[in-house]
Amino acid sequence: MRDAARAAIGEALAACGNPSSVHRAGRAARALLAASRAAVAEAVGLPPGGELTFTSGGTEANLLALRGAGRRVLRSAIEHDSVRAAVADATIVPVGPDGRVDLQALETLLAATGAPALVSVMAANNETGVLQPIRDVARLAHAAGALVHCDAVQAVGKVPFDMAALGLDLVSLSAHKLGGPQGVAALAVAPGVALAAQQPGGGQERGLRAGTENLPGIAGFAAAITAAVAELATYARLAALRDEMEARLLEAVPQALVAGQGAARLPNTSCVALPGLPAETQVIALDLAGVGVSAGSACSSGKVRPSHVLEAMGYPAAIARSSIRISLGRNTIAAEIDRLVAAWIPLAARAKRSAA
Ligand code: PLP
Repeated sequence: MRDAARAAIGEALAACGNPSSVHRAGRAARALLAASRAAVAEAVGLPPGGELTFTSGGTEANLLALRGAGRRVLRSAIEHDSVRAAVADATIVPVGPDGRVDLQALETLLAATGAPALVSVMAANNETGVLQPIRDVARLAHAAGALVHCDAVQAVGKVPFDMAALGLDLVSLSAHKLGGPQGVAALAVAPGVALAAQQPGGGQERGLRAGTENLPGIAGFAAAITAAVAELATYARLAALRDEMEARLLEAVPQALVAGQGAARLPNTSCVALPGLPAETQVIALDLAGVGVSAGSACSSGKVRPSHVLEAMGYPAAIARSSIRISLGRNTIAAEIDRLVAAWIPLAARAKRSAA
């Protein structure tokens, strides 16, 4: 967690007022809530007149956007499970082999959708890091009279992101992906976009999301996103480190592959497959070497199943089952990459043995 977030959480915990209370402590809490809301709105480029609603996570923000809009949903095939599960009967927009959403298919599907629609495409994929053509998605959706939701949980704080410039109607964020605490997030809503509350009750968050606000978490979120956006350059530097790591892995193990390597990606994410060796085996071997990586989506770690993202990109199930996600942190240094490379390369011999 970023130092600024930890400090803001500590200060808010010490104050402990409820933003809905009328007394002095309540008013102070309300002022902190308003300042935090303004900071997050500014960091994400919410247009003037838009609303920002705090939620318990990116999962809840996605649910509020997708169910709250009350429209026919079209979503990409590589969305996070929280989008996939929010609307069971959504129309699926395919992606190409590079992991980018197929814009022509989107246009065709939009034309065939009679009802008022909502298109949901993430800004950056959580397994491959592949960046999506969000501006084009918004243009096509709006031309067809549809709204656009973007799950920007992985992108904000790692690459430049401006909701107004991209022309987005709904944007999901999550604090713990940008150096803030877990369990707090937000949905940014452009002016004029109406949503139905998915959690009714005491009327907090202008009636859109009831429940006493998690003020320490919200203050930490605001501090983290402000710092993250100011320090984007620290992430940009990771791309060179990531590229060098991939080059070393692929040179030593020619049968390995990096999913989405040809597309523009987040600077810190790499999805590496070692055909013949299950992802869990790689995760355990690397863990023993002191390197934490994930099999498939880290958000659902502990669960072992082939990645729907790699399957949507056309990789066979055997590749999907043998892929790991390596995420560099903003403080990752070259010596840590050396440790990963040294631990991973010997695994190729095990893959060969198990193939024999
Ligand atoms: N969307 C994406 C792209 C994610 O990677 C995650 C993972 O955490 C989520 C949504 C869910 O966010 P949260 O864990 O805050 O509920």
